Amino acid sequence: MAWRFALMIDPADPGTTVTDFSDTFTELDPAAPALTVGELSTQRGDGIFESIGVVDGHAQEVTAHLERLAHSAQLCDLPEPNLVQWRAAVDLAAAQCGPGEAVIKLILSRGVEHGPAPTAWVTAAEATDFARVRADGIRVVTLDRGYALDVPARAPWLLLGAKTLSYAVNMAALREARRRGADDAIFLTSDGFVLEAPTASLILRRGDTFVTPAPNAGILHGTTQLSLFEFLESEGFRVAYDTIPTGDLATADAAWLVSSVRLAAPIVAIDDVPMAQDATLTASMNAYLLSPRD
Ligand code: PLP
Repeated sequence: MAWRFALMIDPADPGTTVTDFSDTFTELDPAAPALTVGELSTQRGDGIFESIGVVDGHAQEVTAHLERLAHSAQLCDLPEPNLVQWRAAVDLAAAQCGPGEAVIKLILSRGVEHGPAPTAWVTAAEATDFARVRADGIRVVTLDRGYALDVPARAPWLLLGAKTLSYAVNMAALREARRRGADDAIFLTSDGFVLEAPTASLILRRGDTFVTPAPNAGILHGTTQLSLFEFLESEGFRVAYDTIPTGDLATADAAWLVSSVRLAAPIVAIDDVPMAQDATLTASMNAYLLSPRD
């Protein structure tokens, strides 16, 4: 990982009238230790994060990411983030990214055990080169997520709609996908509905309509999917949110996993069943996703 920048943030109150946050930022050496041993993000994964794609120094969809950070904070009973302060931190990080693709991460942790305040920081690093994956596509397997569609609403303490730092399950699912000879996974509910991938949203094509699982409390509302739906509508397609039974995967005309850094990865096979491709449409989706987006 080629680091470009790291910044510690002293979180400001959202009600403050301050507009210059420079004295709340401390630039760090990304290669040097920065957290204390009592940090709850490292001890319990107790915190939230965002990963923002950066193209030629332009951070993409910052507002949508900041809004989701605030939503995750609310779900996790973390202090409300000051979004003006976070945006200023993103601007500083983006300015260090240079040409090419990069990723900015925002992290808000519950802080140090018995400590007075949450810990917050921002990093910027070079992104993995996904050009080949965007063109050649990915093989996916379906994996049981282990809960029914109504569980997120019945058990909000599971934090299923929050982007928490507890991604060990998501990473385990990716390893399981690789063990099964695939590149990625699609999570299914135990009662047979489609959710999302461990680090991406799913979009299916049915004729001229593009559908994605309804962003209820069980999945993250992807910023890339939201942005891509705007693009597809502007191209004359219809878009929809739906409760999607597992059987619909086999009858879809095409499918993509979409996320902020890898962008649109066309699915070439689900559970070893080949899926049709539209290379021209995929290329136009990725051209749009690589253009500056606010
Ligand atoms: N779903 C999950 C579980 C994710 O972790 C992510 C991104 O990391 C997404 C969906 C896609 O979100 P976005 O398009 O905002 O990157």
